[in-house]
Amino acid sequence: MTRTAARLLAASCAVALLAGAVPALAQTPVLTRSQDAALALPRPQPVIPAPTRATFPGVIRYEADVTDRARRIVSVRQTIPVPAAGAFTLLYPEFLPGNHADTGPIQLISGLTVTAPDGRRLEWLRDTIEPHAFHLDIPQGVTEIEVAFQWLTQPDGGAWRVVQTPNIVNMQWEKAILYPAGYAATGITVEPSIRLPEGWGFGVALDTVSNEGGLARFAPVSLYTLVDSPMFAGAHYRRFALDADGPSPVHLSLVADEAGQLVPAAGLMDKFEALVVQADRLFGARPFDRYEFLVGATSQLGGIGLEHHRSSENTLAPDFFTRGTGSLSSRQLLPHEYVHSWNGKYMRPADELTANYNVPTQNTLLWVYEGLTSYWGEVLAARAGLASKDETLVGMAEHAAFYETQPGRQWRSLQDTNNHNLLGYRVPGQWPSWMRTTTDYYDEALLVWLDADTLIREGSNGRRSLDDFAQGFFGRLDGEAEARGYTFEDLVAALNAAHPHDWTTFLRTRLDAVGPDARAPLDGIARGGYRLIWVDSLTAVEKQVQTGWANDFQYSLGFTLGANNRIGGVRWGGPAYEAGLGAGWDLIAVGDRAASAEVLRQAVTAAKGGSDPIVLILKNGDRFRTQSFAWHDGLRYPRLERIEGTPDRLGDILTARRR
Ligand SMILES: [Zn+2]
Repeated sequence: MTRTAARLLAASCAVALLAGAVPALAQTPVLTRSQDAALALPRPQPVIPAPTRATFPGVIRYEADVTDRARRIVSVRQTIPVPAAGAFTLLYPEFLPGNHADTGPIQLISGLTVTAPDGRRLEWLRDTIEPHAFHLDIPQGVTEIEVAFQWLTQPDGGAWRVVQTPNIVNMQWEKAILYPAGYAATGITVEPSIRLPEGWGFGVALDTVSNEGGLARFAPVSLYTLVDSPMFAGAHYRRFALDADGPSPVHLSLVADEAGQLVPAAGLMDKFEALVVQADRLFGARPFDRYEFLVGATSQLGGIGLEHHRSSENTLAPDFFTRGTGSLSSRQLLPHEYVHSWNGKYMRPADELTANYNVPTQNTLLWVYEGLTSYWGEVLAARAGLASKDETLVGMAEHAAFYETQPGRQWRSLQDTNNHNLLGYRVPGQWPSWMRTTTDYYDEALLVWLDADTLIREGSNGRRSLDDFAQGFFGRLDGEAEARGYTFEDLVAALNAAHPHDWTTFLRTRLDAVGPDARAPLDGIARGGYRLIWVDSLTAVEKQVQTGWANDFQYSLGFTLGANNRIGGVRWGGPAYEAGLGAGWDLIAVGDRAASAEVLRQAVTAAKGGSDPIVLILKNGDRFRTQSFAWHDGLRYPRLERIEGTPDRLGDILTARRR
């Protein structure tokens, strides 16, 4: 080797070393948990134990006090056994069941103190990466700790819903509890109690041990069951039996803003009883030992429709029970939440069946969890008489119209709206037709399930239907209560058992359809015996169901008109979009007339079939614009029209089962 060669070799080695060092650096995280020495903390931060199958030793005694309604403060005291001295981590639930996202309101938890039985304070240390975790260092000889904190519930629905009003409390234990890390929720036992205003009644799917002086105590349950068993309590309370007999009784617990709102109109409770009967006939068995519909007739409590295995939280308009009716969606609410006991709670997507509330949920099967529930919620509402066939068809026409004209599938599949849920939980979109939203795994998926149901009915000459799949997949033994996880493959197998078909291709092509040629899943409408048409005037039923019809121009000029003539949702690619208008613009005038929805409807109607443009004066911030629209197709609203000479399968689907 010459010197020159040696120098060259040395140089090339240096390059090689440098080249080797770059990827090594790139693969080394800047900060890892093992580098905790870099953190400015009073003591080292332990690793958060992952949940195991171990049973947590001992029982957590839990007491909530919800009597401070004036300040809307929920005070909590928990006595928690500690298995050993040293590191012990408490978790606040982050991923809440039924939310499909990390919505636990940790921001509202304050005043957290931990004390030993001898009164010593034990200072907690919040985890620097997982802010829902609190680390403790338990001294030798301490076998239990007392944990106290407040859940500072909110006075208005700005950021979090209202759970306390002068006359109603909606206790959701998962928002006011800490639990030990390292265990599954089913392996932790809690003995719950709650202090309520004296004389209040309550509905809850727990066993009440005693209820004296406003303090209600319940039999010990697993943390899993407690979180799954919220309470509606109220000064005005009434409980109705929908099916009191048998091994799995069903009740409806009603609280209201005023006592007079507790009196149901004649015939209403018969329809809720019919819902229970029709669900039995759909599924064949009840996967619970009891079921409590928790319902608030209220304008003060925050709105909710949240499913649980043995109960559901629901709010309806204050006059829903006295009138015996309400909007179509409100009449479909209880059927939807009831279906969830089977679909979502008992049979749960495996990727949502997490061990505890701090293991991230995944949502790849939300189109089953929510979409199939929406489908059967609407079907059961019709079968129970809570909605008429005509009303249900109007609702389905709205679903079909939106997805038929929605361009969002050009860039984004239905499946992606499931996967995205952790980011976009119930975020209202200004451009729903383009963004696609969390609505799609409900309503577009509903159309996929209608497609499947009509396909089975057609393929079996009416002998089989999606109801057969329901009995095979969801209907097992009465009283069966343990949640079971399922996969896409399990679902396909159960569909094949109901009716042999290439269900994998059927589902995947509809879930993954994306690009300029992707179509909305409307085959079920046609196979159901109907076609989507556009009309310029509405029937009385359509006006009552399509509550926003008077301000709805999305299928004509391409926008909706909100309060004070402000333009709301603009349909991506529609005439208003093409003219450069966006949400938040104000409509000032229509031709030479001051703007209103009625004046705009008249102008769109007058321009139909003619050649004169529709002239709008608009305001965007402090800028005015005059904009002409060469729109001559008039007002357009969706309707499902019967295809004569074909079977009315959709009508069959919506008809009450006799057995
Ligand atoms: Zn749902």
